[in-house]
Amino acid sequence: MLSYRHSFHAGNPADVLKHLVLAQVLGYQTIKDKPLDYIDTHSGAGFFELAAPDAQKTQEYQDGIEKLWQHTSQHGALNDYIELIKSFNESSSLAFYPGSPKIAEHFLRRQDKGWFFELHPRDLVLLEENMQGKRSIRVRGENGFAGLIGLLPPASRRACVLIDPPYEIKDDYNTVVQTIVKAHQRFATGTYMIWYPVVDRERIDNMEQGLIDAGIKNIQLFELGTEADTEVHGMTASGMIVINPPWKLKQTMDDVLPELVNLLSKPSGFYRSEQLVAE
Ligand code: SAM
Repeated sequence: MLSYRHSFHAGNPADVLKHLVLAQVLGYQTIKDKPLDYIDTHSGAGFFELAAPDAQKTQEYQDGIEKLWQHTSQHGALNDYIELIKSFNESSSLAFYPGSPKIAEHFLRRQDKGWFFELHPRDLVLLEENMQGKRSIRVRGENGFAGLIGLLPPASRRACVLIDPPYEIKDDYNTVVQTIVKAHQRFATGTYMIWYPVVDRERIDNMEQGLIDAGIKNIQLFELGTEADTEVHGMTASGMIVINPPWKLKQTMDDVLPELVNLLSKPSGFYRSEQLVAE
């Protein structure tokens, strides 16, 4: 039984990092005219109203997107992300936050395909409503880990994958690594993005080591810690691991992450921007 609903967390600091990286990767991947397949293994509902009871219950967006709403950065990538979120809001006040499916849809062109997996029955209905009307978009109420493997290699021979599980099943940490290893064997040139929460640092260390041990090349890691690691229950940081990243992503994140720490983190906050495995 799945209990996680992203509507409680939309627009929080973890979403800011995840969607900033996603927008950078998709922006780069859609420069060339050649068709692209985008695969979102854990899609969520796709679009969130911040005045709705779920978002209001936690108000996590107030620690994330709301802190950036009036901010002008010296870095284009952060401004582009803020403008992207503004484009989903009709007025100048923050009322809506797009999930990864709507962000991806913004970048996908006529020649591209988008594949969106979601298992929660209620979020699946919302996702179908939010993503309807485009022939190139397919929503599937299936397990995204298995769904991803079934789509590889893609007919387009170019793919961008986001793996963003809720990790409420602790096995997800292992399943992510096993799925990436399988996916990479089928299609080594895809760009794979893995989101992770830092609740228990050891689990992330093991994930990183699992990917390194698998012999996969060209892995980068970007992490935003809103506070220092703690033994006490709760997420204090989150990250994105990117396999086969666009060539400028690391430089962009080196520039943007210190600013995000300043804007979103407590004094004990930190960031990581690392080439985990060389090209
Ligand atoms: N990617 C979304 C975004 O950035 O807006 C948020 C996704 S949320 C963190 C994770 C979603 O995965 C939840 O909606 C949950 O119902 C769904 N889910 C959990 N296990 C799944 C599975 N094995 N396959 C597909 N979806 C799954």
